Amino acid sequence: MSAPRVVVVGAGIGGLAVALALQRAGLRPRVLEQAPTLGDVGAGISISPNAAKGLAFLGLGEALAAEACIPPLQVTRHFRTGEPLLTIDRSDSLERYGAPYYQLHRGDLHAMLLAAVRAHDADAVDVASGVQGVRPGDAAVEVTLGDGRLLQADLLVGADGLRSTVRAALFADQPPQFSGYVAWRGLVPAEAVADLALGPGSSVSAGPGRLFVRYPVRGGRLVNYVAFARTGRWEAESWSLRCEVTEVQQALQDFHAEVHAVLRATPDGRCNKWGLFAREPLARWVQGRVVLLGDAAHPMMPWFGQGAATAIEDAVVLGRCAAAAGGDLDEALRRYEAARIERVTMIHRESLLGGERLSGTDPDNLRPGRVRNEDTLGLFSYDPATVPV
Ligand SMILES: Cc1cc2nc3c(=O)[nH]c(=O)nc-3n(C[C@H](O)[C@H](O)[C@H](O)COP(=O)(O)OP(=O)(O)OC[C@H]3O[C@@H](n4cnc5c(N)ncnc54)[C@H](O)[C@@H]3O)c2cc1C
Repeated sequence: MSAPRVVVVGAGIGGLAVALALQRAGLRPRVLEQAPTLGDVGAGISISPNAAKGLAFLGLGEALAAEACIPPLQVTRHFRTGEPLLTIDRSDSLERYGAPYYQLHRGDLHAMLLAAVRAHDADAVDVASGVQGVRPGDAAVEVTLGDGRLLQADLLVGADGLRSTVRAALFADQPPQFSGYVAWRGLVPAEAVADLALGPGSSVSAGPGRLFVRYPVRGGRLVNYVAFARTGRWEAESWSLRCEVTEVQQALQDFHAEVHAVLRATPDGRCNKWGLFAREPLARWVQGRVVLLGDAAHPMMPWFGQGAATAIEDAVVLGRCAAAAGGDLDEALRRYEAARIERVTMIHRESLLGGERLSGTDPDNLRPGRVRNEDTLGLFSYDPATVPV
C-alpha cells in the first residue's frame, strides 16, 4: 500500500503543530502556506498548561522552557486606580496541572515548530502556495492552488485560520462577523520602562468596555501589551493594520498612569490593530477526508487566551488518532471529532460571552468568586497527550 498523501493548508501555529503531530505518527504531510515567507509575525502569546502538555508531547518541552517566561502571578486591576482586584497564582501550575503556564513571542513559538517540522522533513513546507479551491473527488480530495497547480490528497487538514478557504468550500455557514471589539498589540523594550519595575508577572487592567494586558516576553527584554476596546464598528478592508499608538492612548485615556507609561514607550511602527471577528461554533469539523483544525474550525474570542492553545490540543489529538487508527484515515477523523468537539465548543461559546464579563461596566465583577476565566472553567487540567481517543 502506498503512503497516504496528506496535505495541511496553512503554516500558522495550528498547521505546523498538526504537521509535526502527523510526522510523529509516521505520516509525511505537505504544508501549503500562502505567505511568500515565514517570519517573526505577531506579538505575545500565552501557552497555558493544557497547551504546554501538548507541546511537550510533540518534543518541544525543553525548547519551550528555554524560550518562554513563566509569570508567577496574574493580577487583574481596576482600570482607573490600578488597585488589584484579583490575583491568580500561576507559580504552582506545574504541580496543579502538570505543566507550567508560559508566555512568549508568537514568532519564537512559530520558529520552534517550523524547525521541528523541517527536522523531520526539510521539504515539508511550501510557501507562496495559497489554496484557492478544494473539491472532494471519488477517491481523493482535489486541491487547486492560486498559481494553477493541482494536487490530490487522501487527507486534507484545513488549518487556514479565521477566513479559511477550506471551511468556505465545504462547510456551509456564514462569514465571520465583527464582534464589536478592536485589539491593539505592541512591543516595548523593557529598558524603556525599567523605572516602572513591572516585574515578571502579567497584569490585566479592566475597565468599562476596555482591557489592557501586559506581560514580558523574550527573556524579559520586551514587554508585550494588548489592549481591547468595544467600538461597535470596523470599517477597514483589512482585519489587521499598523496604527499610531495615540489611538490606544485615546481609547484608554482614563486608565491609570502605568498603562500610559507603557504606551508612551512604544517605538514607532510597533503597534498593530486588529478587528476581532467571531463565528458561531460548527456542528461538524469533518467532511469526508477533509478536516478543520484551530481557528478554521473554532475561531474564538481571545478573552481566555485559548485560540492557539486549542489549536495545539487539536493537533496532538489528531496525530494520536491517526496513530491509533493504524492507517484507517476515516476512523482517525471520526475519533478526532468525537474526542474534541464537545470541549472546544464549550470553550468557544464561553469565549463569545467573555468580553462582557471581563470588560463590562462593573469592575467589581472581577473580584474573587465572581469571575469565570480559563482557570475557573477548568481548562488547564486537560491533557491532549493522554485524553482517550
Ligand atoms: C489579540 C489576540 C490575542 C491572542 N492571544 C492569544 C493567547 O494569548 N493564547 C492563545 O492561545 N491564543 C491567542 N490568540 C489566538 C491565536 O492567535 C489564534 O487562535 C491562533 O494563532 C490560531 O492559529 P491557526 O494556526 O489556527 O490560524 P492562523 O494563525 O490564522 O494561521 C493560519 C495560516 O494559514 C495561512 N492561510 C490562510 N489561508 C490560506 C490559504 N488559502 N492557503 C494557504 N495558506 C493559507 C495563513 O497565512 C496563516 O499562516 C489571540 C488572538 C488575538 C486576536
